[in-house]
Amino acid sequence: MGRKAGERDAQWRRERLRLLVHSVADLESRSIVAGVIGSGLIVAAAQWLPNARDFMIPLLLRLIAIIGNAFLYEKIRNRLRTGADIAIPLRAAALMAAFGGVSWASLIIPVFLRPHLHPASYIVTAGVFIGVSLILANTAAIKRIALPFAAGFVVTFLGAAALTPWNTAVWLFGGLAFIATGVGTFSIGSAHQRLDAADTLVENQRLSEELEEALARAEFFADHDPLTGLFNRRALFDRQIHLEAPGEKHHMLLIDLDNFKQVNDRFGHETGDRVLIGVAQVLGDFVAGSQGEGHFAARLGGEEFAVFLAVSDNDEADRIATQLHLAMSAVAAAIGLPPKLGTPSIGISPIYRGEQVCDALHRADHALYQAKRDGRDRICRDAA
Ligand code: GH3
Ligand code: MG
Ligand code: MG
Repeated sequence: MGRKAGERDAQWRRERLRLLVHSVADLESRSIVAGVIGSGLIVAAAQWLPNARDFMIPLLLRLIAIIGNAFLYEKIRNRLRTGADIAIPLRAAALMAAFGGVSWASLIIPVFLRPHLHPASYIVTAGVFIGVSLILANTAAIKRIALPFAAGFVVTFLGAAALTPWNTAVWLFGGLAFIATGVGTFSIGSAHQRLDAADTLVENQRLSEELEEALARAEFFADHDPLTGLFNRRALFDRQIHLEAPGEKHHMLLIDLDNFKQVNDRFGHETGDRVLIGVAQVLGDFVAGSQGEGHFAARLGGEEFAVFLAVSDNDEADRIATQLHLAMSAVAAAIGLPPKLGTPSIGISPIYRGEQVCDALHRADHALYQAKRDGRDRICRDAA
């Protein structure tokens, strides 16, 4: 297992950012209507103020911000869905967030330029503070969005303060202090909670990936040999491959590598392993190359292999056995082993419908024994 769960690397942070952006983008797109209605209500309330017309430009700015945000977050959502990089649209979203902050603050400017003790001015101010708080709480976990938004809002707000008489400016600063402390504290808490949730999600995703990987490995090694990757003895016996092949008679080859103990003793265990892997490769390639014909190869254990040939004709089976014998002998020769070291001795036997694999293997073993007695590195056919 390569990665360790709990490790917080760059990849981890990237995955976490994508999750956070995904949840922000989701909420953004779901709150477009609420945003339009909210801004509309603020402007509607402003109609009761004497300078109602001053709200036209702020409303326009809000609409541009809402449309721009909707467009960008839709782009980001699409990119997240397809697994594409989101760096560029995220940068654009940061710019748009700054503009959003400006647009929210612009809604409040007309109120303070012409201070009026009308309930509508409280509705407008409260509406702006609520809107800004909700956006900050939603985006706080993504600093590159929340900070430009806050900066856009604060700078515009302070700009407005510079244009107002000092006694109004005091109230402006008061409002700003309210946002900075109350909303700021809440947003930081919300950011921590969102980051924790995203961390847990990334960790769970990684754990489930690792679990899937481990399960796939366990499943693979349940019926495969770990050294050669070939099917194991259990697979040969479990698969009932001889019953699935059409026809009444097929063939079974039992292969034992010659003087393998000497290969290990004289050339090292590693060389022995290379021969085993090479021989398994020959058998695996043969089966893969004749896909659909129903042949099957397995490592029974040690230096013994079995091959089921879905072939009824004796001559055809012998021809294939000869071809395999030649290819397997070439493995030992290529490694530089002397004659009769690591070469294959093969026993070949028919397997009839209704028989068990072990019956045919038993007869093939007899033939193999004969091949060994006859001098090894050869094929012997069982008489049955
Ligand atoms: P014969 O020609 O009569 O078959 O002689 P042999 O030496 O091949 O037969 P024997 O059964 O005495 O030895 C088999 C050897 O195969 C012994 C064992 O150390 C070796 N062997 C079994 N599994 C592995 C393996 O996974 N890797 C390696 N390198 N050697 C193995
Ligand atoms: Mg043996
Ligand atoms: Mg042997």
